[in-house]
Amino acid sequence: MHKPAYIGRFAPTPSGYLHFGSLVAALASYLDARSVGGRWLLRMEDLDPPREVPGAQAAILQTLERYGLHWDGELVRQSDRHGEYEALVQRLFDQGLAYACTCSRKQLEGCGGIYPGHCRNAGHACHDAAIRLRVPELTYRFTDRVQGEYSQHLGREVGDFVIRRRDGLYAYQLAVVLDDAWQGINSVVRGADLLDSTPRQLYLQELLGLSQPRYLHVPLIIQPDGHKLGKSYRSPPLPGDQATPLLIRALRALGQPAPDELVDTSVEELLQWSARHWDASLIPRTRNLAESQLR
Ligand code: GLU
Ligand code: ZN
Repeated sequence: MHKPAYIGRFAPTPSGYLHFGSLVAALASYLDARSVGGRWLLRMEDLDPPREVPGAQAAILQTLERYGLHWDGELVRQSDRHGEYEALVQRLFDQGLAYACTCSRKQLEGCGGIYPGHCRNAGHACHDAAIRLRVPELTYRFTDRVQGEYSQHLGREVGDFVIRRRDGLYAYQLAVVLDDAWQGINSVVRGADLLDSTPRQLYLQELLGLSQPRYLHVPLIIQPDGHKLGKSYRSPPLPGDQATPLLIRALRALGQPAPDELVDTSVEELLQWSARHWDASLIPRTRNLAESQLR
């Protein structure tokens, strides 16, 4: 069977609705795939039920449809993949690559977010404990297609990180690496808020013998009040009846030429035109873009 050369994806978290910043990321990954005849998959990253907004999953799917961002194949939900995550956590624990951590939040105060390694050699049982992955004292680097060289020393800048929380929830870093590989993703296009997660993901890929996708991190959109349009900020859903003007705005945020005449086209035509003219090298090389600077 013919295997497409490019497989990309969009992986929203249903802790909120899609906002303009997520539209920019979704559109970039969609066009990057479609411009080369690639596949574009959709994965719902519903790992954290307590933080899920009721109705957000359905609203996200409906918004993507209304904005013409049709995905290939079946939607994958991370909530259906707990068995795989658990098997991996157990394997890493059994191999001594991960360990149980019983530190309380209070004990970790003042560590600046970098785990100081208290439980590294404590030999705690994994019951009622967080599971942390040991990180090597090494720098992981990659060349982002837009942001350029990025490197991070995992030991000094990140520390041993949680792969399963004490309450049993699996961490994004673990799930994203496993699922990108399982879905055959070879091009990741996402928001620049995840640039500093990438070295952790490179380490996990290396540890598990998985191939490394290419990465492209698009600028994050900053609201006039300084809020980042990221996953932690609750913004209103994208209006269903303004797909064309908002897609044009998103195209311009991505540095793509978008002639005014596009306003009169259908969403489908607009996306086809955009895929034909897509040029990732025009994306602004910045991690943040103020929404007020956009036309
Ligand atoms: N689920 C993540 C988010 O909504 C994106 C994960 C990814 O693209 O790697 O921010
Ligand atoms: Zn600990």
